[in-house]
Amino acid sequence: MITVNEARIKIEQHTLPLSPVLVPIIDSLGAVLARDMEAPIDSPPFDQSAMDGYAFRWSDLQADSYLILQGVVAAGDTSATTLLPHHCLRIFTGAAIPEGVDTVIMQENCRNENGRIYMDLSSTIQGANIRPAASQCKQGTLIPLQGSILQAGGIGYLAGLGIAELSILPKPKVGIIVTGKELVTPGTALQYGQIYESNAWMLMAALREGGIHVGHHTRVGDDLKETIEAIREELMRCDVILLSGGISVGDYDLVREALFSCGVEEIFYKVKQKPGKPFFFGKKSGTLIFALPGNPASVLTCFYQYVVPAIRKMQGLSFDPPRVQRLLLHDYFKKGSLTHFLKAKVDDHSVTILDGQESYKLNAFIEANALVMLEPDQQQFQKGDSLEVLPLNTIWSSSNTESLKSASS
Ligand code: AMP
Ligand code: MG
Repeated sequence: MITVNEARIKIEQHTLPLSPVLVPIIDSLGAVLARDMEAPIDSPPFDQSAMDGYAFRWSDLQADSYLILQGVVAAGDTSATTLLPHHCLRIFTGAAIPEGVDTVIMQENCRNENGRIYMDLSSTIQGANIRPAASQCKQGTLIPLQGSILQAGGIGYLAGLGIAELSILPKPKVGIIVTGKELVTPGTALQYGQIYESNAWMLMAALREGGIHVGHHTRVGDDLKETIEAIREELMRCDVILLSGGISVGDYDLVREALFSCGVEEIFYKVKQKPGKPFFFGKKSGTLIFALPGNPASVLTCFYQYVVPAIRKMQGLSFDPPRVQRLLLHDYFKKGSLTHFLKAKVDDHSVTILDGQESYKLNAFIEANALVMLEPDQQQFQKGDSLEVLPLNTIWSSSNTESLKSASS
């Protein structure tokens, strides 16, 4: 049996970021970007009017009291205009500045008398109201994107440079296999000795919180051949396989044997923790396999503690989700010398350990918003002790990203 910390280290060592893929820019939202880019164009691509008004040559108005209206240029006009001497052009925001123009004046400061435009220059200077070409970004400039996560504004900026696709680290393809002859799908009748299958739904929901949609799951009885077939199938298409149940030491716990038959390499089996002691982690050519003990609270706890960090790393996030310290609101006695993960409720300052910590019970998860970790070598915890807490609502938070040098090289 290895410690929780050793288990974490081994999982981190065996997990690699996935290979980058090119996606439509909208699908890059929330993903870690794999590469820097060079700006493909100047932005703006041409000198642009920043106002609705009149475009003119500053020196002309030094001599004349008015300018003659030559025509109109609007945003989107694609044929170039040249300004005649002593003339001006009606111009609108976003229009290309014609040859010969050096200043735009707001229409509010102008008077049109039969095509003669009188201008009040008191609040305008030469060069005003023109957005110079490339003033936001010059063509060829390196845009440092690697490792960053775009928000809507960033996507707008890159789309404005004409970028339609981005290279991102994708989310892994995850397969779910639940084992157990006793399991029945919710919504159907239960016979004596049967229970409703809940782990697959819980895992699908937990993955969906991280933006990973698993369309189907496989259910197998406690049958070696069936289990091997299910694992083989998922090995062909998945980056991560989650199994539930059948990994303990009972006569019908056949998952480990099935994994070996499929050529899965065992990285570790059994961790000094509660819940979730008979927890298996293995690998086969790039696919990570987590065999989670069947008890529902063990499944979810191991998912949060070990599977989430691995998936985070695969998609370019830091391995560790954010953890915080909170003050225990009451005394607590922990039996034994395993690391305990306990369903808890936290607020900004404190943490309460909830009732119902047995591994077959999920009811505390209705209220729980965090898992508390209690160190193995301590039994007695006092009110006011500072404890390490894993808040569940930030478990997929992308605030801290790792360097992606290895991912994109
Ligand atoms: P196992 O690890 O297969 O011995 O299962 C441990 C406990 O978890 C047993 O009480 C099982 O009935 C229960 N269990 C296993 N798989 C599931 C599941 N998918 N949904 C709900 N309970 C399960
Ligand atoms: Mg079982």
